[in-house]
Amino acid sequence: MRGTFDYLLSAQQTASVDVGSVLRIRFGGQRTLGVVTALAPTSDLDPAKLSQPDEVLDSAVTPELVALAEWMAHEYCSTTARALSLMIAPGAAQGAGAKRVLVAELTGAGRAALDAAPVGGRTAVRLTDRQRRLLQTLRQTGAAAASELGTDSLRRLAARGLVTLERRIRARRPSAHEIGAASATAPPLTPAQRTALGRVLESVKARPGAELLLHGVTASGKTEVYLGAVEAVLNAGRTAIVLVPEIALTPQTLWRFQSRFGDVVAVLHSALTQGQRRDEWFRLRTGEARVCVGPRSAVLAPLTDIGLIVVDEEHEGSYKHEGDPRYDARAVARWRAAHHGATLVLGSATPRPESVFALTRLRLPERVDGRPMPPVALLDMRSSHHPLHPETRMALADLRHAGGKAIMLLNRRGWSNFLTCRSCGRVWLCPNCEVALVLHRQGAFVACHHCGHRERVPDRCPDCASVSVARHGAGTERIEQELRDGLGTDTFGIFRLDADAPTLQARARTLQAFEAARSGVLVGTQMVAKGHDFPDVSLGVVIDADQTLRFPDFRAEERTFALVTQLAGRTGRGAVPSRVLVQTLAPEARSLRFAARHDADGFVADELTRRRALRYPPFSSLIRVVCSAQAEPDAGDAAARIHERIVADGATVLGPAPLFRLRGRFRSQVFVKATDREPAIEAVGRAVDAVAPAAAKRGVSVSVDVDPV
Ligand SMILES: [Zn+2]
Ligand SMILES: [Zn+2]
Repeated sequence: MRGTFDYLLSAQQTASVDVGSVLRIRFGGQRTLGVVTALAPTSDLDPAKLSQPDEVLDSAVTPELVALAEWMAHEYCSTTARALSLMIAPGAAQGAGAKRVLVAELTGAGRAALDAAPVGGRTAVRLTDRQRRLLQTLRQTGAAAASELGTDSLRRLAARGLVTLERRIRARRPSAHEIGAASATAPPLTPAQRTALGRVLESVKARPGAELLLHGVTASGKTEVYLGAVEAVLNAGRTAIVLVPEIALTPQTLWRFQSRFGDVVAVLHSALTQGQRRDEWFRLRTGEARVCVGPRSAVLAPLTDIGLIVVDEEHEGSYKHEGDPRYDARAVARWRAAHHGATLVLGSATPRPESVFALTRLRLPERVDGRPMPPVALLDMRSSHHPLHPETRMALADLRHAGGKAIMLLNRRGWSNFLTCRSCGRVWLCPNCEVALVLHRQGAFVACHHCGHRERVPDRCPDCASVSVARHGAGTERIEQELRDGLGTDTFGIFRLDADAPTLQARARTLQAFEAARSGVLVGTQMVAKGHDFPDVSLGVVIDADQTLRFPDFRAEERTFALVTQLAGRTGRGAVPSRVLVQTLAPEARSLRFAARHDADGFVADELTRRRALRYPPFSSLIRVVCSAQAEPDAGDAAARIHERIVADGATVLGPAPLFRLRGRFRSQVFVKATDREPAIEAVGRAVDAVAPAAAKRGVSVSVDVDPV
């Protein structure tokens, strides 16, 4: 719903309602939740026609979050209601409440009975062996959930006054939380870490704080700087948010923060159960927890008096939310930091050119262990017919001989990227998405990586009945098999890590197995280059490094540079000499040349020059409008009508251009490049508002993406 609506409060409700209060209301005949965005003594509407909220819930958001939602609605061409729906307590709409469980605790009489009854001895209080064990357990744990020990036995003990049973609220905590008190202490810092931390602490003391970019090579110890900054913020009685790019990296980061600060650290992410998320949200809201760690959505944590927001691996695309509103967590972090006068720290080994351009940069130029970056060689694949270059194969054979570990990165899952008929040239495409189906040999199916459509592997061409089907390109599954056939032995393991792994736990198991192995190769998509630390990897290989360059996207160079640099950062951390091999069809590409020289400054400077010339961010703002419909003309018409209506000074409007069909829907896109951001966002918002309602009647949906990734 768009806009705000008036409700009439009873006298009793007036006392308990404030901006941010969450109300159970009736809206258009339906029961739903409403959030109070403003209080007014009177309404322009007839009070007799106003409805009264049914109930005031105990899960109010802060007035700051209401203001943030209003900003997000405007900034991302969405509505305040949609933004607020991401901020209210998880499960509030379903009426989720705190969980109460029956808790057993030892009484004085119970303690006396234990002491008075040595094993086998005769005393006034008779205990069976099982009862004695129960009481002993309770003495050790203090209190425990009755269901875990046996409710019936406990009831009998309670009847004799030896234990108490009581219903209590019990926070549902994610399992990684079972750490309890803080135990770790800060290690000594390197001079570079001390300098960087000193600068961050200066900013934390000042209000408003600064916007800082911590540019540190992989393994330069950025997390220690974050920990030092969080400590200062907690000591000052304020709160902090620490964002990580992926759920898979949350447990590691959470563990590091929790072992330093204990229970004041909470976590928010979508892999928790709703009950856990709700309880963690309340711990943050009530101030019981004062540090929130998590991916993107944790930037909306209901904290007050925020003193620090950290965005680790700030270059990652996952900080962009793909649902409505299409917010960018880095921009939201900036807004909240400004609101609270907090310090913003973005950290990366490969920062975005726009961050280098806009923020004060702090440097961690060396690894904590002082080891140099490994040499990077570019291998020309233009005349190669094998997916692995001869030099790569040689390096792997040497590695197996000497015993050691390698990471191979290939950003393509499956066996081969597409299938064609050798007789008639048919290409196997997804029936919904107009993209090639990828062969997964394990499981014998071809799949669309956009919509998940699957078919059996074809044994003949449906068009010409030829049985000769060609498989092109190599994915992680095929490389894994190549390596297994050529190199794999009992002592030289081949491991694969990609999104084919069914769960986070399955991925964690693969990583643990690789870590525990004495030697072997880990093959995978870009997730192998993220966050994980293997001290003994001496060879890094990027297969098809320029694949990212073939996307028609102005960030292609940035991504390619980041990919190679991140892998180099994970290689050569041990004592063995090490190197990185980069297989490419474009050995002259700028991004690869800079990455091979470990020249991040040169790359960013060059990239900023290019973007200034082409008017790309940070020298402009981009806005993308996509219309999709069942029928091709409907999508195109709506896009054309929106295009006509976007009029703003300094804005170039491109399109409408058809996009490939996705999930059975035809799509058409309008692209706006604007030097003046605010008027362009407003012009797009007006154009969409004018066209979308009529288009919706014909089944056209319109989505607006400001700062698309
Ligand atoms: Zn054919
Ligand atoms: Zn598809």
